[in-house]
Amino acid sequence: MKWKCTFCGFEENLLENYHWKCPKCGRPLFIEYTVKSEFNSSRNIWHRYSGFVPFVPEKTRGEGLTPLVIEKNSKHVLLFKLEYLNPGGSFKDRGSALAVYYGYKMGFKKAVVDTSGNTGISVTLYSKLYGLEPIVIMPKTAPPGKKKAVLKIGGKVIESEDRSSASRIVSEYVKDREVYYVAHLWNPLYIIGHATIAYEVFEDYGVPDYVLAPVGSGGLFLALAYGFEKLMEQGLITRMPKLIAVQGYSCQPLHEALYGERAEGEDSSLADGIMVYNPPRLSEIVDKIKSSHGELVLVGNSEILTALEELWQAGFLVEPTSATVYAAYRKIKDKIPSGAAVLLLLTGSGLKTL
Ligand SMILES: [Zn+2]
Repeated sequence: MKWKCTFCGFEENLLENYHWKCPKCGRPLFIEYTVKSEFNSSRNIWHRYSGFVPFVPEKTRGEGLTPLVIEKNSKHVLLFKLEYLNPGGSFKDRGSALAVYYGYKMGFKKAVVDTSGNTGISVTLYSKLYGLEPIVIMPKTAPPGKKKAVLKIGGKVIESEDRSSASRIVSEYVKDREVYYVAHLWNPLYIIGHATIAYEVFEDYGVPDYVLAPVGSGGLFLALAYGFEKLMEQGLITRMPKLIAVQGYSCQPLHEALYGERAEGEDSSLADGIMVYNPPRLSEIVDKIKSSHGELVLVGNSEILTALEELWQAGFLVEPTSATVYAAYRKIKDKIPSGAAVLLLLTGSGLKTL
């Protein structure tokens, strides 16, 4: 198991030092480890998919193995993956379970994370599990329900004015050698952890034709690409799904990266969970859209609200950010061939946003 930078060639044993980014060139790092196609029937996903992760965390709160609800409409098979049923109410628990355990093993005493919400809840939950002191830097505009949840489960919340003041607060903290800067936008353990979604979908259904995922940092999107790629490499599947990235008009770095300009469209501030203006792995996301023959779909508040209302009425109690994928599906469904299986990631619980 080692850290690896594919840009400058930096390498180091994973258990030697923690790096939230490449210490030589400043780019995001990967983790290299041997993957073995071993599945078993354990209800603990880290044991079940132990061949696909670099290490198995000691503890679990039951993250993963979320239901896959299969609904057929007149044209498609819709696969709703209920990630909002994870212990902290979002898919982020899969990554935090690995990443916070790693911080604990490396001897850190405090965990710091800067987030708009769900990662804060998740990092707090797993930090408490391993006895680390959780410190969560959240923008003032983050949904109050998410802040309350962090506080209630024992996290310390520091409110930041905006994104750049959050970065300043983080840089003060990382000087402290006891502090583990979780850096979920960069930390490859989040990608490896979230990739367990792909293994579950494979076990429950097989390979979908289309995968729709909201993209903020792109951690979830890259994880789905990573997971299906690992299944391909192991000879378990023979084709990749088309990966469809979903962003809001108000924050569309992917559109700019793909087409060199902004697209016109209405405000999308309801999707607070995907307001990441400079995702560190932007070029990787672009590569995965292109190599999977996928695309980017942009949505706005009125589309999100309609989708949210339909999802709630259908019994899926998700947050507005999660409704972006259903809004995107509604937008492109006429282009998707009849009979196609479409995976829709329902990422976060709506109970925190009421
Ligand atoms: Zn490097």
